[in-house]
Amino acid sequence: MTDCLFCRIVAGDIPATVVRETDTTLAFRDIDPKAAVHVLVVTKEHFVDIASLAQADPELTGDLMETAAVVAETEGLLADGFRLIFNTGAYGGQEVDHVHAHVLGGEPLGPMVCK
Ligand code: AMP
Repeated sequence: MTDCLFCRIVAGDIPATVVRETDTTLAFRDIDPKAAVHVLVVTKEHFVDIASLAQADPELTGDLMETAAVVAETEGLLADGFRLIFNTGAYGGQEVDHVHAHVLGGEPLGPMVCK
Protein backbone atom coordinates (compact mmCIF):
# COMPACT_ATOMS: atom_id res chain seq x y z
CA MET A 1 0.00 0.00 0.00
CA THR A 2 1.69 3.18 -1.18
CA ASP A 3 0.00 5.36 1.44
CA CYS A 4 1.09 3.16 4.37
CA LEU A 5 4.18 4.35 6.23
CA PHE A 6 5.41 0.89 7.20
CA CYS A 7 4.79 -0.53 3.70
CA ARG A 8 6.98 2.28 2.42
CA ILE A 9 9.71 1.36 4.94
CA VAL A 10 9.45 -2.29 3.86
CA ALA A 11 9.76 -1.19 0.23
CA GLY A 12 12.86 0.88 1.08
CA ASP A 13 11.19 4.16 0.07
CA ILE A 14 11.60 5.58 3.58
CA PRO A 15 14.85 4.95 5.49
CA ALA A 16 14.89 3.00 8.72
CA THR A 17 17.51 1.48 10.96
CA VAL A 18 16.90 -2.20 10.25
CA VAL A 19 18.04 -4.68 12.91
CA ARG A 20 16.67 -7.89 11.39
CA GLU A 21 15.01 -8.99 8.17
CA THR A 22 13.44 -12.30 7.20
CA ASP A 23 11.48 -13.38 4.13
CA THR A 24 8.25 -12.24 5.77
CA THR A 25 9.16 -9.71 8.48
CA LEU A 26 11.24 -6.59 9.09
CA ALA A 27 12.49 -5.20 12.41
CA PHE A 28 13.70 -1.61 12.71
CA ARG A 29 14.34 0.94 15.47
CA ASP A 30 11.47 3.19 16.50
CA ILE A 31 12.12 6.77 15.38
CA ASP A 32 10.94 8.09 18.78
CA PRO A 33 12.12 5.47 21.29
CA LYS A 34 10.16 5.10 24.54
CA ALA A 35 12.84 2.93 26.19
CA ALA A 36 16.57 2.27 25.93
CA VAL A 37 15.72 -0.41 23.38
CA HIS A 38 12.65 0.15 21.20
CA VAL A 39 12.34 -1.91 18.04
CA LEU A 40 9.27 -2.31 15.82
CA VAL A 41 8.60 -5.64 14.11
CA VAL A 42 6.28 -5.65 11.09
CA THR A 43 5.07 -8.15 8.56
CA LYS A 44 6.16 -7.28 5.02
CA GLU A 45 2.63 -8.00 3.88
CA HIS A 46 0.13 -5.35 4.90
CA PHE A 47 -2.34 -6.19 7.67
CA VAL A 48 -4.08 -3.46 9.64
CA ASP A 49 -3.51 -4.90 13.11
CA ILE A 50 -2.66 -8.02 15.12
CA ALA A 51 -6.31 -9.12 15.30
CA SER A 52 -6.75 -9.19 11.53
CA LEU A 53 -3.33 -10.77 10.99
CA ALA A 54 -3.81 -13.51 13.59
CA GLN A 55 -7.18 -14.52 12.18
CA ALA A 56 -6.09 -14.38 8.55
CA ASP A 57 -2.64 -16.00 8.80
CA PRO A 58 -1.55 -17.80 11.98
CA GLU A 59 1.71 -18.95 10.36
CA LEU A 60 2.73 -15.39 9.50
CA THR A 61 1.73 -14.38 13.04
CA GLY A 62 4.24 -16.96 14.24
CA ASP A 63 6.90 -15.46 11.99
CA LEU A 64 6.26 -12.04 13.53
CA MET A 65 6.53 -13.43 17.06
CA GLU A 66 9.68 -15.37 16.21
CA THR A 67 11.36 -12.26 14.81
CA ALA A 68 10.34 -10.32 17.94
CA ALA A 69 11.90 -13.03 20.13
CA VAL A 70 15.13 -13.09 18.10
CA VAL A 71 15.33 -9.29 18.28
CA ALA A 72 14.86 -9.47 22.05
CA GLU A 73 17.74 -11.93 22.20
CA THR A 74 20.10 -10.04 19.88
CA GLU A 75 19.33 -6.77 21.70
CA GLY A 76 20.35 -8.47 24.96
CA LEU A 77 16.92 -8.29 26.58
CA LEU A 78 16.36 -11.91 27.61
CA ALA A 79 18.22 -11.86 30.92
CA ASP A 80 16.39 -8.89 32.47
CA GLY A 81 13.15 -9.15 30.53
CA PHE A 82 11.30 -7.01 28.05
CA ARG A 83 7.81 -5.98 26.94
CA LEU A 84 6.05 -6.89 23.70
CA ILE A 85 3.14 -4.58 22.81
CA PHE A 86 0.60 -4.57 19.99
CA ASN A 87 -1.31 -1.30 20.19
CA THR A 88 -4.58 -2.04 18.42
CA GLY A 89 -7.26 0.39 17.28
CA ALA A 90 -8.27 3.74 18.70
CA TYR A 91 -8.55 2.73 22.37
CA GLY A 92 -5.28 0.82 22.06
CA GLY A 93 -3.49 3.95 20.88
CA GLN A 94 -2.52 2.58 17.47
CA GLU A 95 -1.20 5.38 15.25
CA VAL A 96 0.11 3.43 12.26
CA ASP A 97 -2.42 1.06 10.69
CA HIS A 98 0.06 -1.66 9.73
CA VAL A 99 0.51 -4.45 12.27
CA HIS A 100 3.62 -3.93 14.38
CA ALA A 101 5.01 -5.31 17.61
CA HIS A 102 6.87 -2.94 19.91
CA VAL A 103 9.88 -4.68 21.52
CA LEU A 104 10.77 -2.56 24.54
CA GLY A 105 13.47 -3.06 27.13
CA GLY A 106 16.97 -2.28 28.28
CA GLU A 107 15.71 -0.63 31.48
CA PRO A 108 12.84 -1.08 33.98
CA LEU A 109 9.65 -0.20 32.11
CA GLY A 110 7.32 0.64 34.98
CA PRO A 111 3.62 -0.19 35.15
CA MET A 112 1.96 -1.71 32.10
CA VAL A 113 -0.74 0.97 31.93
CA CYS A 114 -0.82 4.41 33.58
CA LYS A 115 -4.28 5.57 34.72
P1 AMP B 1 1.62 2.83 17.39
O1 AMP B 1 1.21 4.02 18.20
O2 AMP B 1 1.53 1.54 18.15
O3 AMP B 1 0.90 2.79 16.07
O4 AMP B 1 3.16 3.01 17.10
C1 AMP B 1 3.68 3.62 15.97
C2 AMP B 1 5.15 3.82 16.22
O5 AMP B 1 5.77 4.11 14.98
C3 AMP B 1 5.49 4.97 17.18
O6 AMP B 1 6.20 4.45 18.30
C4 AMP B 1 6.34 5.91 16.33
O7 AMP B 1 7.39 6.52 17.06
C5 AMP B 1 6.86 4.96 15.24
N1 AMP B 1 7.26 5.59 13.99
C6 AMP B 1 6.58 6.52 13.30
N2 AMP B 1 7.23 6.83 12.16
C7 AMP B 1 8.36 6.07 12.15
C8 AMP B 1 9.46 5.93 11.24
N3 AMP B 1 9.53 6.63 10.09
N4 AMP B 1 10.44 5.05 11.55
C9 AMP B 1 10.39 4.33 12.70
N5 AMP B 1 9.37 4.42 13.58
C10 AMP B 1 8.38 5.27 13.32
